[in-house]
Amino acid sequence: MKISLPRLPAIECPVCLASAGRLFASIGGRDYLRCEDCEATFLCREQLPGPERESTEYRQHRNQCDDPAYRAFLRPLAESLLARLAPGRDGLDFGCGPDPALAAMIREAGHRVGLYDPLFHPDPEALQRRYDFITCSEVVEHFHHPAWEFARLDTLLKPGGWLGIQTTFQTDDASFARWNYRRDPTHVVFYRPRTFERIALRHDWQLFFPSRNIALLKSALIKQGARP
Ligand SMILES: [Zn+2]
Ligand SMILES: [Zn+2]
Repeated sequence: MKISLPRLPAIECPVCLASAGRLFASIGGRDYLRCEDCEATFLCREQLPGPERESTEYRQHRNQCDDPAYRAFLRPLAESLLARLAPGRDGLDFGCGPDPALAAMIREAGHRVGLYDPLFHPDPEALQRRYDFITCSEVVEHFHHPAWEFARLDTLLKPGGWLGIQTTFQTDDASFARWNYRRDPTHVVFYRPRTFERIALRHDWQLFFPSRNIALLKSALIKQGARP
């Protein structure tokens, strides 16, 4: 005889907003949910780190503009974006951190790049204009309200603008508990290709995966606003 246990009600997914999040794993007192719709994996809302914890962590992992290893790490994102930009475009390095290495690399290719970071470059004016391109390198996994953040990024992009995202995709459930990327206490949401497909659909963006752990999104030429 098959006994089916009552399922707990599903939780709203912070990425696609579907009521489709179910408990996926409990590791060291942290509960992760998986969205059955967009396949995002996210930390339970009550356990999100507070601003002090985040600030301490961010100040610990500093990336240096002139560190060749870090530049090599960023090169696939920089190159896939640069290959698609007309000369002399205006961009924003969103979540640039204390040493904006990616912005430096893109400037060297002749583009202008503004900086925004809630902690290190909290310049509200940077969020008052529109850009030909925006980079988000090692940022989206820190979002506490991803759906809201992607909607904001959409408003910051000119029609036909590019959004370049780098984050380590979550692919292997069996190793999730021992996955180093998960262990960073400020990494609270993990994405899969399908997650970006859902985000792209919502905002009417075109989606490309030019390289490992990189999603490139192109905003619509005629913007119609987010779909419900
Ligand atoms: Zn979802
Ligand atoms: Zn990170």
